Amino acid sequence: MTRSAQPTKDLDRLEFFIDGEWVKPQGTDTHRVIEAATEEEFATAALGGVADIDAAVLAARRALDDGPWGRTTPAERAEVMHRFADALLKRADVTSEVVTRENGMPIGTSRALNGYAPAAVFRAYAEMIKTVALEVVQPSPFGATIIRREPVGVVGAIVPWNYPQTIASWKVAPALAVGCTVVLKPSPETALDLYVFGEAAREAGLPPGVLNIVTAGREASASLVTHPGVDKIAFTGSTATGRWIGAECGRLIRRATLELGGKSAAIVLDDVDLDVFLRGVGPASFMNNSQTCAAQSRILAPRSRYDEVVDALATFTRSQTIGNPLDPSVTIGPMASRQQQQKVLGYIDIARDSDARLISGGGRPAGQDRGWFVEPTVFADVKNTDRLAREEVFGPVIAVIPFDDDDEAVRIANDSNYGLAGSVWTADESRGLDIARRVRTGTIGVNYYNLDINAPFGGMKDSGIGRELGVEGLNAYLEHKTMLASSEQLPK
Ligand code: NAD
Repeated sequence: MTRSAQPTKDLDRLEFFIDGEWVKPQGTDTHRVIEAATEEEFATAALGGVADIDAAVLAARRALDDGPWGRTTPAERAEVMHRFADALLKRADVTSEVVTRENGMPIGTSRALNGYAPAAVFRAYAEMIKTVALEVVQPSPFGATIIRREPVGVVGAIVPWNYPQTIASWKVAPALAVGCTVVLKPSPETALDLYVFGEAAREAGLPPGVLNIVTAGREASASLVTHPGVDKIAFTGSTATGRWIGAECGRLIRRATLELGGKSAAIVLDDVDLDVFLRGVGPASFMNNSQTCAAQSRILAPRSRYDEVVDALATFTRSQTIGNPLDPSVTIGPMASRQQQQKVLGYIDIARDSDARLISGGGRPAGQDRGWFVEPTVFADVKNTDRLAREEVFGPVIAVIPFDDDDEAVRIANDSNYGLAGSVWTADESRGLDIARRVRTGTIGVNYYNLDINAPFGGMKDSGIGRELGVEGLNAYLEHKTMLASSEQLPK
């Protein structure tokens, strides 16, 4: 293995971060990273094989079993994590721009979610770990019982391309806070940006092997899931891949957190203030060109105001600025890949062949001959049994579905295999909260949808198992141990 102290210059990422150093891959596989808006190749990333994953897991295992990280105090770990956050922030502008070029995310959103949010997550967990009681003593019939919470061990963190930095921070930050060690596995599509975590690890003084980063395709990534040196898999991605990972982890009795897809509903009630809805529907349904697991791609509209809601959505989509997402005035950028664009256009064709009514959009935008663009598209009169209402599109295609009363709205919202997000739009907040309580979903907003990084996020039903963020996101990296002791251990 050839090692160096510095990563490769420019945007190419031809080395992995293993055991605290930049390491040449053991094979020769690479991935050409294509800019979503121009279809031009702009960098090359090394793709790891099974041997690279193995080296990363062994480094993480050594760091867990023999390294100093597990013996540090929460306050010491918090200090390192704040330095890690500082290092991410120093690079925030460059990181945001790289992600925008990789996956088409509008630059303002990328600055917020790839540039700044990950540092905030590191800081939140750094502060939280200082306040969490990792050992609690209680009396027992035989003396004293100490309930201890320990790191779950070596974590394989597998992340998708849509919010690479944010989603990685949701896994790496709580894992490091409790004393775990990590192998982070970025998606090939966004292989260039996550290496900033390696630079941050060195700058923060994280001990070697505590965080390792290897980008890999399907086969090598699968070897991380089944590697005997891994204790837990934290996965975000498609439900299909999550199902396979869940099955493997079940077979191996390995801990797993699965954050998967969604087909969330925005329920517009008959007393809605349409101006409020129009201000909120962008973040709720079109964030990151709707390449968002929590995107509310079903809009349930009351028959009494159906035409108004449909017209409002058409006005909204036509007012969007489509173009190169590096331009701050652009609100809708391209899809992350040609494959993703073809998938989204395929769903538009499927909906055109149904009884649904195309209201706006419906194809590639005029004047955008290069780049994987798709127009923001609205179909009305969609049935909740249609494929457009049941399957995750992961692109800006909205299904509007009519309902007669609140009970029917809840029924339609819940008639889905997924349960990740949702929203209710109403002039009466308590009516909105009543409806929100009845929807089987992991997160739901009333008159807005935005994540709170201090509260749990995750899915019900096919949207996943477990939660990230908040205290629940920390608990996901802890095992419980009960130690039986004499009553001398009880606090005096
Ligand atoms: P994907 O499932 O194809 O890939 C996700 C990650 O898993 C990538 O890093 C990929 O390389 C890796 N991977 C693929 N096959 C694997 C295997 N057999 N074993 C181990 N790793 C494997 O998903 P994607 O296309 O990258 O991302 C889009 C999907 O992710 C969408 O369906 C979306 O809804 C979902 N998503 C969910 C959330 C959430 O929090 N619930 C967040 C973002 C994205």
